[in-house]
Amino acid sequence: MTIRREFEVAVVGLGGIGSSAAYWASRRVGADVLGLERFELGHERGASQDHSRLIRLSYHTPAYVRFAQDAYAAWGEVEEDAGERLIVKTGGVDLYPESAYGWMDDYTAALDEVGVPYEWIGADELMRRWPQWVVTPDVRAMVQDDTGIVAAAAANAAHRRLAVRAGATLVDRARVLTIHEVGGLYELQTEAGTYRAERVVLAADAWTNELLGQLWRPIDLTVTQEQVHYYEPRDPDAFAPERFPVWIWQGVPSCYGLPAFGGHGPKIGQDVGGPQVTGDTRSFEPDAAYSARLDAFMQDHLPGGFGSYQTRKTCLYTMTPDRDFVIDLVPGHEHVAIGQGAAHAMKFASVFGRSLVELLFDGHATSDLSSWSVERQVLTMADPPKSFWM
Ligand SMILES: Cc1cc2nc3c(=O)[nH]c(=O)nc-3n(C[C@H](O)[C@H](O)[C@H](O)COP(=O)(O)OP(=O)(O)OC[C@H]3O[C@@H](n4cnc5c(N)ncnc54)[C@H](O)[C@@H]3O)c2cc1C
Repeated sequence: MTIRREFEVAVVGLGGIGSSAAYWASRRVGADVLGLERFELGHERGASQDHSRLIRLSYHTPAYVRFAQDAYAAWGEVEEDAGERLIVKTGGVDLYPESAYGWMDDYTAALDEVGVPYEWIGADELMRRWPQWVVTPDVRAMVQDDTGIVAAAAANAAHRRLAVRAGATLVDRARVLTIHEVGGLYELQTEAGTYRAERVVLAADAWTNELLGQLWRPIDLTVTQEQVHYYEPRDPDAFAPERFPVWIWQGVPSCYGLPAFGGHGPKIGQDVGGPQVTGDTRSFEPDAAYSARLDAFMQDHLPGGFGSYQTRKTCLYTMTPDRDFVIDLVPGHEHVAIGQGAAHAMKFASVFGRSLVELLFDGHATSDLSSWSVERQVLTMADPPKSFWM
C-alpha cells in the first residue's frame, strides 16, 4: 500500500487543541487532513489527557468570557456530531478568602460587561447550600451556573474519531523533527517519514518552540509539572455532580476541584504549584509536598470528599508570561497557524481548534482573537515580567 504523503492541511500535535483542529479541518477538506502525533494517540505525557477538566464562563477579562461562550456553542456542535455528551454542567462557585478580595472585581466586571449573571453569597449561605464546604466567615463566593466538566479524554477521542470518519489520516509516533517551506508547500520531516502540506497547524504545547523556532522565533514559555488527585470520598453521595458544583479557591495558593464524575471520585488540583521542567525532563511521580498541600486543603475545607487516593496524576502546564493564549498566524507564514493554550485551554479546545482552522483558511476567525497575538509586546521581550495569576 502506498502511504499518502501530501495533504492540504497538516496538524502537528494531537492533544486537546490539535485533535480539535484536525476535526474542524476535516469538516472543511475531508480526507485532505493529516494529523501528526509524537507519541501514541491518547498518551498522558502532554496536558490534555485526563478524565475531566473544568469549564466556566467566570473569567477575568471579557475576551475570555466571550470565548468561553463560543466554546460552549462549539462543544454543542461536536457533541451533536459525535452523538456523545462531552460537557456536564454542574454550576460553579469561585471562593474568595479575604486575602483575595483584590481581584474579585476583575471577574465581576468581565461578567457584567458580557451580561453573564452570577450571584454573590457569604460563607454561611455557602455552607447552607453545600454543607460539604467548611470555610471561615471571611470567605465570599460567586455562584455562576454555566460551569461544569469537560470529559477531556473522551472529547479528545471524539474529535479524532470524527476527523477520521471524515477521511483524515492520523499518524502516531511521528514526531515532527523539521519543518520548512519548499516551493509553496511545508515539508515536515518526521520519525515516520516526510510529509508535505499546503497549510499547517502547530499545536505542540510544551514542545511549541522546537517548531516555532524553526519557522520564526521561540516565544517565552514556562513549563511546570502539576498534579491532580482523585479520592475515594468518605461521603460519595454528597460529591455527585447533581449535588456538588465545580469550584475554584481564588486565594493563594489557588486550588480547584470537580465533583465525582464518571466513576472517578472528587478531584482537586492546584493552579501553578509545581517545579519548572521541560516536556522531556518531567517525571510522572507524584510529589510528596504537593500531595500534602492538596490533602490538607481537602481535610480543612472538604473533609467528606477526602479519603484514600483513587489516582494521583502529574501533568504539564505550559504558560506564556502573561498566561494569555496564542492563537495566530505565524508571522511571515500566512499558511501556518500557532495555538498555545497557556495551561487553561482544555475548556476552549473545541473553539480553539475551530479558530486555528478559520485563521488558516479565511485569515480571520468567528471569535475575537485580538488579545492572543503571537506578536504582542510581552512575547517580544527578552526578559518579560511573568504573572501566571488569572
Ligand atoms: C493538571 C492540569 C489541570 C488542568 N485543568 C484545566 C481545567 O480544569 N480547565 C481547562 O480549561 N484547562 C485545564 N488545563 C490546561 C489544559 O489541559 C491545556 O491548556 C490543554 O490541554 C493544552 O492542550 P494542547 O493540545 O495544547 O497540549 P497537549 O495535550 O500537551 O498536546 C500537545 C501535543 O503535541 C504533541 N507534540 C509535541 N511536539 C510534537 C512534534 N514535534 N511532533 C508531533 N507531535 C508533537 C505532544 O505529544 C502532544 O500530544 C489543565 C492542565 C493541567 C496539566
